[in-house]
Amino acid sequence: MAVIGITCMQDGENKRVWLHRRYCRAVEAAGGVPVLLPPLRPGPAVGRVAAAVDGLILAGGGDIDPRFFGEEPLPETGRIEPERDLFEISLVRRALAAGMPLLGICRGMQVLNVACKGDLYQDISLIGGGRRFKHRQTAPRWYPTHEIHINPETLLFGITGQRRLRVNSFHHQAVRRLGTGLRAAARARDGVVEAVEHKEAAFALGVQFHPEAMWTRYPVFLRLFEALNQAAETHRDGSDPPFGRKRG
Ligand code: MN
Repeated sequence: MAVIGITCMQDGENKRVWLHRRYCRAVEAAGGVPVLLPPLRPGPAVGRVAAAVDGLILAGGGDIDPRFFGEEPLPETGRIEPERDLFEISLVRRALAAGMPLLGICRGMQVLNVACKGDLYQDISLIGGGRRFKHRQTAPRWYPTHEIHINPETLLFGITGQRRLRVNSFHHQAVRRLGTGLRAAARARDGVVEAVEHKEAAFALGVQFHPEAMWTRYPVFLRLFEALNQAAETHRDGSDPPFGRKRG
């Protein structure tokens, strides 16, 4: 039973920290123990948290402050929560350095990319070269509205066993330049990156969709959480050295 830390939303006005229950239920259904992680100041506390959990989920949420990828905010940028950005970027870097399994969901995939020095389109409308699909669906959250094409040489394919998958979509930002060490594991047919993964890490995967909202109706999405839980158990048992090195 792996302990999976899940990052939370932070409400800037009331300073509440919260997370949708469905993330916890998915981790539980996959055999893990969910633990909620409030934003912490970058520093030793982040390292302590990273040491205390076996795996991580970076949950969905608002936009990443474009300053973290070297841009000024455009009018299209939505709500930003800088404390959360700083915490999650720091946490991802520590997790990757420690070989800890992590799953980034929606915003979490974008955080993974930015933490690896990649960048984002602040809004999908800013992508050139033709019209894009509707990536901010108004259909119910559980309902898959567009298709993604999964590269067969990837962890994501290993987990899902599917070249094509219909997914939900609740994003208006998108990955532009991939971060160091990352590859695109899936794209929508309009070219938008829908999954990224780290080429050297045992399990560092980001998905642009929300599997936690779909798994009760489409069991293939539970496999993502089961795979994370399995990788986290392996990490905890120390049998999978990070980046090919022996630990400690
Ligand atoms: Mn999408």
